Amino acid sequence: MPRTRFNAASCSLFFLLFILSNHAWSNSGASSDYNIKYWSFIDYQNRNLDELLSVPNEQWTPFNGKTRESFIASDDFWRGNEHPIVWVKIKLPRHIAFHDLWLEIVPNVGIDGLIVEKLDDKWTWEEPEGRRIDDSTNIPVNHLTFKIDAQNEYKYAYLKLNTSQVFHFSVNEYNYSGFSWYLVKSHLFNAFILGALALAICYNLVIGISAGERVYLIYSSYVLCIFLFSAVIMGYGRVLFPDWGGDGVNIRTFGFLLCFTVISFVREFFDSKNFIPTVDNVMQYTRIGIVVLAIVSLFINDFYAFLISDFAALFVPILVTFTISKAMKMGHPLAKYLLLAWSFIIISSIYWALVWIGLIEPTLLPTRLVLLGSLVEVVLISLVLGYRYSFLKAQTEQLTNAQNRFIELSETDELTGILNRRGFLKAANSAMLEGKKNSAWLSLDIDHFKQFNDVNGHMAGDKLLAEFGGLLAKRTQREDLAAKLMTEDARKQYRKAFIGRIGGEEFAILLINSNLAQTKLYAERLLREFEDITVKDKVGGVASSTLSIGGAIFTDDITLENAWRRADKNLSKAKSEGRNQCNIA
Ligand code: GH3
Ligand code: MG
Ligand code: MG
Repeated sequence: MPRTRFNAASCSLFFLLFILSNHAWSNSGASSDYNIKYWSFIDYQNRNLDELLSVPNEQWTPFNGKTRESFIASDDFWRGNEHPIVWVKIKLPRHIAFHDLWLEIVPNVGIDGLIVEKLDDKWTWEEPEGRRIDDSTNIPVNHLTFKIDAQNEYKYAYLKLNTSQVFHFSVNEYNYSGFSWYLVKSHLFNAFILGALALAICYNLVIGISAGERVYLIYSSYVLCIFLFSAVIMGYGRVLFPDWGGDGVNIRTFGFLLCFTVISFVREFFDSKNFIPTVDNVMQYTRIGIVVLAIVSLFINDFYAFLISDFAALFVPILVTFTISKAMKMGHPLAKYLLLAWSFIIISSIYWALVWIGLIEPTLLPTRLVLLGSLVEVVLISLVLGYRYSFLKAQTEQLTNAQNRFIELSETDELTGILNRRGFLKAANSAMLEGKKNSAWLSLDIDHFKQFNDVNGHMAGDKLLAEFGGLLAKRTQREDLAAKLMTEDARKQYRKAFIGRIGGEEFAILLINSNLAQTKLYAERLLREFEDITVKDKVGGVASSTLSIGGAIFTDDITLENAWRRADKNLSKAKSEGRNQCNIA
């Protein structure tokens, strides 16, 4: 693949993706009605409502003016193995025009929430809109919606959110057109990513099946894991399985699967078992380790489960990067392209990690960047694999051509251009398999050729042999061409000739569909045509020679060797009876 074209294509593709996604996130944002006030409180003791109501105001953290809040599952959020609850206090002004709320939560890996309001003088718990079984509205993606009765005389509502990890969290007042736009935009972005991933899965699956190569199938399973992982981050896991809840088990499971499949893919891509066996061993053990960790993570509490999945998510990319650079050093032709593709997911993951450790403000951007980074990686690797496919195909074709040429050369006589002994016997044997009825073997030998060489020179002898080869070849070519123009029935009856140089000045012809009379006629004509061949002798004069032919007609019980022997016997007879004649029986 021309490198510049590949680079230009990948750069422009990435640029396009960047513009599209940037458009999507720059338009997403919280509405800013400052009439409603929010506070948050992270509760490590799993208080009940009464206890919560007695939490003094100073312990609540006010949301900033833009009604946007970020919680990071860092040291602040996790304390030992306690599972924190996020409470949000909402102060409602009386008589507000709208009375719905929606929360944007990124990444959405299974957040759960309840709202409690004082209605009819008692606190009443409600699930988010769309979570109730009998509710026909679509369960939202990346957000929860709650209905708040703002007409009521009490001023506060409380949200209780149960979550494993939250980067970004914003409370927004419901506004029909604003909310619809938010939904359309986030669905468009998500559909773009998921659609492109689905395309890559199909593309590699088709190549894998048609080429019968495992690397494409393993790659599409890796992309399938990216697809599922992305769908969970986007919040679609909760759309399909509302009961999955907030324990984060899904994202961990798909994370482990991703780690497993990416290692399988890299192993297969580089054939590391043979190419870099030491690294291959590490990858094998890592895969076993991942399976063990994935199982263990199902039985331990969330905090430790997250710790081990984070460890895998850190170790595996380092191992993969190391493997690619090792393969590059060892001169693998496609390693640098894979490194380029892989660097996109690495850069976006580093960005994501910086959010986790609190160095970058957690917003929608890092989530989308990770999604985009993995998509660009998938597209680029698909290009690399497509290139690998055409490269291997061209290589196989070249090899087959060379092989065919080699076989052809090994079965052709250099001087005369017709089949040599090996090629002729191979062709004759396979022709005999189709039946020997009506076939004849002719043995041909040039008369006094030793003398011809002595008188006219060895060069003239060579020339005569070459001319004779040319004559025989031209004759059979003409006959083959004539046969092509016939109907199939007629062709079955038509004479077909195989010719070869058996050695020195001896030739053999196998005639299919030729009875005794036809064979005699054929041989007689050959004698005349041979006589007419003239070559220049060593002093510039003209020289020619004659030919003797012995022939045998096949009978059902005769073998090729027997026919050959009988033809040779008849040839000797023709020689002894004066040469320049044929003897066929
Ligand atoms: P006969 O009529 O009995 O067949 O006599 P002959 O001389 O043709 O038979 P013989 O088998 O004794 O000699 C064959 C000669 O063919 C010997 C060799 O010099 C010549 N010969 C064999 N191969 C080549 C070749 O490739 N080029 C040339 N110029 N001569 C060859
Ligand atoms: Mg001879
Ligand atoms: Mg001879």
